[in-house]
Amino acid sequence: MVEDEADVIRYIFELYAREGLSIRGIAEHLTDDDIPSPTGRSSWGKSTITKILRNETYIGTNYYNKSKRNGKDREQRAREKWIPIDTTPIVDPRIFREVQEKLRRNKAVRRQEPRRFYLLSGMVYCPDCGRPYACQTQKAGKHRRKNDAPQYRHRSREGHCRNRIISARKVDPVVWSRIVEVLLDPDNLRKGYEESLEQQQATTKRQRLRLETLERARQKHEKKGANLMTAYLDPDIQLTKTEYLQQRTAIEDELKTLDAEIDEIRTQLASVAAPPEFETIEAFAGEVREQLEGADDLSPPEKRKILELLHVRVFIPEEGELWLEGWFDPPRERQSITSR
Ligand SMILES: [Zn+2]
Repeated sequence: MVEDEADVIRYIFELYAREGLSIRGIAEHLTDDDIPSPTGRSSWGKSTITKILRNETYIGTNYYNKSKRNGKDREQRAREKWIPIDTTPIVDPRIFREVQEKLRRNKAVRRQEPRRFYLLSGMVYCPDCGRPYACQTQKAGKHRRKNDAPQYRHRSREGHCRNRIISARKVDPVVWSRIVEVLLDPDNLRKGYEESLEQQQATTKRQRLRLETLERARQKHEKKGANLMTAYLDPDIQLTKTEYLQQRTAIEDELKTLDAEIDEIRTQLASVAAPPEFETIEAFAGEVREQLEGADDLSPPEKRKILELLHVRVFIPEEGELWLEGWFDPPRERQSITSR
């Protein structure tokens, strides 16, 4: 092992055992510091860190005969068949033991923790790149779970257009109060619902037509490919191999472009949400009204259920006010999200 790599390994053990970083924290830290990962990728994954922290090779124990070939794959042998071989240790065995202990403890804690709840998980969107925000929790520290800060996260490393963190404590109440407003205005609610339905039908119709056009174009290109082949094989038509290959490549490229768009539209059509009955929406509006009249407060999961029913999407622009879309308000006109 190269000394540099050994340094990185030791550093990882150090960060986990002594600096109190989480596995995710270590992965982010190494990635941010541009330390090359052993897999050759530019970012470190949590699983890579975990594998390193559990690897006994670093305290000088390696095993030979751990696995055997089974066709194309390798399968692990029973542990008593492993043959230990000594290697040069690079991690202090005491730190190694501390790390194993901490890994065990954290695993036990994770099992006890309830899954975190986010009112708007999967519902917060970026109007610029069209991608949904992920959920995360900024931990306040041990035993201070109630001070943990739930957040929605946008991150360029994950393919988003920029880095941004939005506090759920700030945005959740704003969204909920807008939804309450929407539900308490029955006339507007119905109008919005009907408009959304109309818009969905119009979009679906447009996409179906586009799909037909694309499929016709596809057939035409396939035919063109077949004709080209015939022409090439026909001795009367003097088509050189270079010409033939050039034209074939052009046709294949065209087909690929068409297929990509066909796939995209099919996916969109398959993901069209089924509209709820307006009566169902009204029934939920009734519940919200009761809540406001001083009856029991709706629990976060009950609120979530209403948001899901309404198919709420929250768009948060870089500047200016957020807006909602759903079965109460049709989507705004904007550039196709997936056309980039
Ligand atoms: Zn974005």
